[in-house]
This record gives sequence, structure tokens and C-alpha cells, in this order.
Amino acid sequence: MDPRLAADRDALPHLLDTVRQHATEVLGRIADRKVIPTQVLPEPDPLPELGTGLREALDDFTSRWEPVLSASAGPRYLGFVTGGATPAALAGDWMTAAWDQNPISSLDGAGQHLERETITWVRELIGLSDQHHGAFVSGATMSNIVGLAIAREWLGECKGVSPAECGTAALGAVQVLSGTAHSSVPKGLSVLGLGRQALTHVPTLPGREAVDLVALEQALNQVGGPCVVVANAGTVNTADFDNLRAIAAMREHHHFWLHVDAAFGAFAALAPARAHLVEGLDLADSICVDLHKWLNVPYGSAVQFTQRRDLQTRVFQNTAAYLGPLGDTPDLVNLTPENSRRLRALAAWFTLRAYGRDGHREIIERSIACACALGDVVTDIPGLRLLAPVRLNVVCFTLAEDPTTERLAALAKHIADKVFLTPTVLDGVPALRAAFSNWRTTKTDTDRIAAVLENAVRVL
Ligand SMILES: *Cc1c(COP(=O)(O)O)cnc(C)c1O
Repeated sequence: MDPRLAADRDALPHLLDTVRQHATEVLGRIADRKVIPTQVLPEPDPLPELGTGLREALDDFTSRWEPVLSASAGPRYLGFVTGGATPAALAGDWMTAAWDQNPISSLDGAGQHLERETITWVRELIGLSDQHHGAFVSGATMSNIVGLAIAREWLGECKGVSPAECGTAALGAVQVLSGTAHSSVPKGLSVLGLGRQALTHVPTLPGREAVDLVALEQALNQVGGPCVVVANAGTVNTADFDNLRAIAAMREHHHFWLHVDAAFGAFAALAPARAHLVEGLDLADSICVDLHKWLNVPYGSAVQFTQRRDLQTRVFQNTAAYLGPLGDTPDLVNLTPENSRRLRALAAWFTLRAYGRDGHREIIERSIACACALGDVVTDIPGLRLLAPVRLNVVCFTLAEDPTTERLAALAKHIADKVFLTPTVLDGVPALRAAFSNWRTTKTDTDRIAAVLENAVRVL
């Protein structure tokens, strides 16, 4: 054994304690460090031919790379839709690496059973019935891709062919209708061989990102045959919601697969005052739910739900002599694009076990309260203009005067060491958005953000 490797093995208890101590210091300062660092990037180092052991690797990481990492795990990183990691989720992630399981089959321990238990918890958390089967994937993009892959197989079933067996050419042109689809949907269509052009934008309601039901009905009439509808439960810009129940009801007269992208919106189900937004979610054929956003587990965690596991295994079955037959409860290797992978469920398992539905409801409701409070602040600051009512956890706003992309970028840059917001364009208007989803964020942070914004607008 390499001597440094052997030394690290022998000193492992001590070394892990050092790492733990370091992580504790990092997290202890996470709320106070610059949200977006301004230091210059380090020059790339050559591949170490001779290693120097864990201790020096940690020192090198600490000095070269830590100063240029963002405080995305902290309370005032409001870009994209970014969760942190609850204490229990972090512990679960550490244990994931410590145990280093590959939970894709039943051959070697109970990993996949733990994943199934966690899937059931997530399903109940967001109010889905047991008609839905879930599987862990790496993120909402992958969840959308898996959902659309099952939809593709369903389109084949309607035509009496299997695209999984004969390729997508057998389908002919495919139509995917959506109001405000997330960018991962066209990406997914590209990956799946259906093509980005398969996506048809259906008009949304005036001043909204929610799909216009009359326009959707017209689009469905125009398509005539089987197609796919991607409904959106929580749009990135304004957290707007399609009317899921009404869309699902259109299946009485139209033949379509209903995929719902509820990446972060699904968590509205936890807040009694917002649960109506996801009414009808259970009626979907496939659903995307992200966990590394609002469930606050570390990156690399989302769930894909579907009512058609038979179609799912047709697409993703991984037949090999050393793996068992599909059976009624297929091994996880047959459900998603990945084969070998980490025990993805464990961080979610830990946080749900530790804080339960109630603890996570509190996080969701606090995020919403913070967003509403910031929405009020934006309304009150004369130089700013709120672009949409705060429906959930996202505040979308712009400058009251001369809202150019450049001026908004200057504003975002000016405040980026204290609060990180991401730019967008809403209905042609350049804007900024603040998305609240980190478990650490409190009213104190919102007050601080309000002060920072007010000051920045004044000096802009
Ligand atoms: C974040 C998001 C995605 C993509 O999720 P990743 O985890 O980045 O892959 C898809 N849809 C919606 C609505 C999202 O908010």
C-alpha cells in the first residue's frame, strides 16, 4: 500500500476529527462570509505525482479553493432556487460516503429498501397517493428527462410500437405542449431524441406564467392525436402554478400524457395556506420533485414519480446475467438512466427522520413568510417595482426607472457580497429574482437584505 495511504488509514479517526472540526468552522462562519467571493481564482495545479496525504490536501483545499467558493449553503444566497443542507441531511450525506453503498439491486444489502422507505415518505410528504411509484435521480433535470422518457414510451404504446426497442423514428413527429416550461424540458427533449422543436409554447394567462386553459384546449384540438403536456407547478421566475386539476380533466376529451414539473412547487403541499396550488398533482402521469432545493439536502437528489412503472422499466431495464429478473418490484437499476450510484436517499432519510413533516413544514412556511416580507419591502422602496405577486417563495422585481439588463446586473453585483440574486427577463422586462429556500434564512436576513437593497438603489 502507498505509504501515505497507509498512514491515512492508520490515522483515520484523528483525520476525520480534523475534517469535522474544519467543516464546523466553515459552517459556523457561513452566514458572515461574502455570499459571492471577490478573490481571484487560483492557477490550476498540475496532477500531483506524489501525494502528501489527507492533511495537506485539506490545507491546500482550504487555502486555494475555499476562498473562492460561494456561500450557497448560507442564508442569503437567494439565486436560482437553492436549498442548503439541514444538520441531519449533512450527517446523512457524510454517512452516504462512509457506507459507500450501491443501492441498485437486492444482491448486496438493504440499500434499495431504505430508498423505497424514503420514497414513500417523500410521496406522503407532498400528498401523493400510492398509485405513484418513485425513484431517486440526481436532480430535477434528470427527473424531467425520466418522466419524458416514460411519456415517449406511452406515445409508442398509443401507436403500438416501442421506442425503447425500435427507436424514436417509429413515433414520427411528437408534440409537447407547455406554458412556461423550465429550460431543462427542451434539454430533455434533445437528449431523448424527440428534439427541442417538439416543444410548443402555449400562451399563458395575461401577466402570468400559468398556462391559459383555453389556449391549451385549442392547442390540444390542433394536435388531434396523442401528445404530451408538461404542466408547471412553480415556475422559476415568479413561482406561478398551472391549474393542474383543470388540465388533468382535459383528458376526458383529449389523449395526452400529463407530466408535472413540480421541482420546488410540490412543497407548497406542506403549507396549508398554499396547498391549493398543487391540487390535482396526484392526477399526473409523471411528476418531477427536487429534493436538493426545498427539502434542504445536499446536491444530487431529486425524485421522479410515475403511475406507469411498467413503461418506465421498458425504457430503463438493464438486463444482465448477474442481475435478477424484473418481477413485480423491480430493482432500482431498472428505473433510471444510472446503474451504479450512491445511496442517494440517505440524506433525505436523515432529514425527514430528524425533523419530520412538521419540521419541514416550518422551513417551507418560513421561506414563504420571508419572501412575502421582501415583497412588501420591494413594494415600499420607490426605486423598485414588484413584477408579480409573491405566490410562494420567489420575489421577482425590477428597477422602477430604466430597468436595463446592465443596470440590473450592476445592482446585483453591488450587493453580491451580502445577498445573491439571479437575473432574469420577465415578459421582456429585465429583472432580478430572490428565491427563498434555505433552512437557515430568517426574518433577520430579510431585514438585512431590505436594508442592502434600499441602499444599493439609492447609490445606483
Ligand atoms: C431547478 C428546476 C429544474 C432543474 O433542476 P436541477 O435540480 O437543476 O436539475 C427543473 N424545473 C424547475 C421548475 C426547477 O425549478
